[in-house]
Amino acid sequence: MKKFLIALSGLLLISCAEQSTPISPVADMVLTNGNVVTVEPDQPSAQAIAISGDKIIAVGSSAEIAAYIGASTEVIDLEGKTAIPGFIEGHGHYTSFGDSFYRLELRYDTSFDAIVKKVARAAQGVEPGEWIIGRGWHQDKWETKEDVLIEGLPLHDKLSAVSPNNPVMLIHTSGHGVFVNQAALDISAIDDDTVPPEGGEIVRREDGTATGMLREAAQDAARAAFAAFEAQRTPEQIETELRRAIITAGQESLKWGITSFQDLGTNFYEVDLLKRMADEGSIPVRLWMAFEEQAADMDGKLDEYRMVGYGNDFLTVRAIGEKVLDGALGTHGGWLHEPYADMPRSHGLNVVPIEEIEYSARLAMKHGYQLAIQGIGDRATTELLNIYGAEMAKNPGKTDLRWRIEHAQVIAPTDIPRFVELGVIPAVQGIFACSGGPWVEDRLGKDRTLERGYIFNTLYDAGLVPTNGTDPPVDEISPIGSFKCSVTRELPDGTLFQPQETYSRELALYSYTMGNAIAAFEEDIKGSIKVGKLADIAVLSQDLVTVADDELMGTEILMTILGGEVVFEK
Ligand SMILES: [Zn+2]
Repeated sequence: MKKFLIALSGLLLISCAEQSTPISPVADMVLTNGNVVTVEPDQPSAQAIAISGDKIIAVGSSAEIAAYIGASTEVIDLEGKTAIPGFIEGHGHYTSFGDSFYRLELRYDTSFDAIVKKVARAAQGVEPGEWIIGRGWHQDKWETKEDVLIEGLPLHDKLSAVSPNNPVMLIHTSGHGVFVNQAALDISAIDDDTVPPEGGEIVRREDGTATGMLREAAQDAARAAFAAFEAQRTPEQIETELRRAIITAGQESLKWGITSFQDLGTNFYEVDLLKRMADEGSIPVRLWMAFEEQAADMDGKLDEYRMVGYGNDFLTVRAIGEKVLDGALGTHGGWLHEPYADMPRSHGLNVVPIEEIEYSARLAMKHGYQLAIQGIGDRATTELLNIYGAEMAKNPGKTDLRWRIEHAQVIAPTDIPRFVELGVIPAVQGIFACSGGPWVEDRLGKDRTLERGYIFNTLYDAGLVPTNGTDPPVDEISPIGSFKCSVTRELPDGTLFQPQETYSRELALYSYTMGNAIAAFEEDIKGSIKVGKLADIAVLSQDLVTVADDELMGTEILMTILGGEVVFEK
């Protein structure tokens, strides 16, 4: 049989060689006359791309690719503009990102008063009892400070005054804490005597009354009260709103040239709906979803839910994440080996118990899922490497698991070789170095920051997979912003944060494309412009690899192509 195949292929070769000019297949789409940055070492640059169906069938010079143009071919003249592989968002929260467009946006507010004003306006337009939800605030962005601050945070009084009859929940930009008003405290049954749950803190004034700030696990009571309110919706309303979030998140991603989105934190209900939408062909971007469910609830269900490349490569479910082992640095929740420099009583918080993560690790190993747990502080990363390493040691026959640690913002030097040894991927976000940079030294102190903070290039030099993303809706989804921070480490005030840890331009592009693809086992179909891969392409107004630092932010996304179709055009 083998012999026959060899003989046959020899015959084909001969017959091709006899033709004077080889006949190329007619492409459905040709991009020509461009600056194509392929992210492929063998052919790093080209001018043109031929696409058939949802795949790339040829990459080369404009003259070479002209052979693929037929009467039915859609030809797009790039006019010298730059085409790159579609960006892959490496870590985000897909439906919360979609939902965030229907909530109060607090990311850009520079005072607590500005936020109070927004809430006051929102309170005019809702029925008594309806919740008002905002997200994105960060106390270190407030230029004017309140007179009374407790642990750097204001009191809820002003918020309660403008919204006496509506519970208000304002989610910190990190997602690791909420600020609520009196009505929300009441409905969440938080009073002077409430004992916070383990891994959580109810911030209190000297007289013992709650300030409104609920850290980490303590926010669960407010979120549960809001969820109970939401649960009163009809099943139709619930599905309609979730579909709206899924569509919005996809459309907003495409505007940024993002063609794949890695979600950390889905559930069975969401995946059921996504699967139906994949059947309909109505998911706007390619999704890689990680379950955030209790291990006991996942046990017994994971085989049935595992899917890779479902619905023409639009839906992959093969990971467990992001249970959070610890909290965020911004809210003093990141779990550290040594106490916070600016809050010496605290090492941060262990949010989800170790045993729960161990249970998830056993499930991931057994059912062939990646594990992608959040570790922000250096202690959290150490503990996760312990858990991952112990489970891997029990299964020496299983290799190339690509388990991930999400964020990996503070890393002990002794843990770097352990990442390498276990093949664990640090799923980092370039932009976090710039959004956290202004206050990280306050939290960690100078020396610890220098040694352990956001050491992304050190991780790459050690041989680890470079990754990128913005954790939307935590930071703005912009890959351009994260790219710029990755290569400059320039803070809003012009100073540089950990500049020795910048990525090169090429590496930053690689991290946002191939690196993220590898982190999801998708490097064979995504991450570069190569024959046989999916035709997921972003067209940019300028070349990210060569443009000057101070012009990077001017980069516009002109067009996004997904599976060979133009899905966004400026
Ligand atoms: Zn996240």
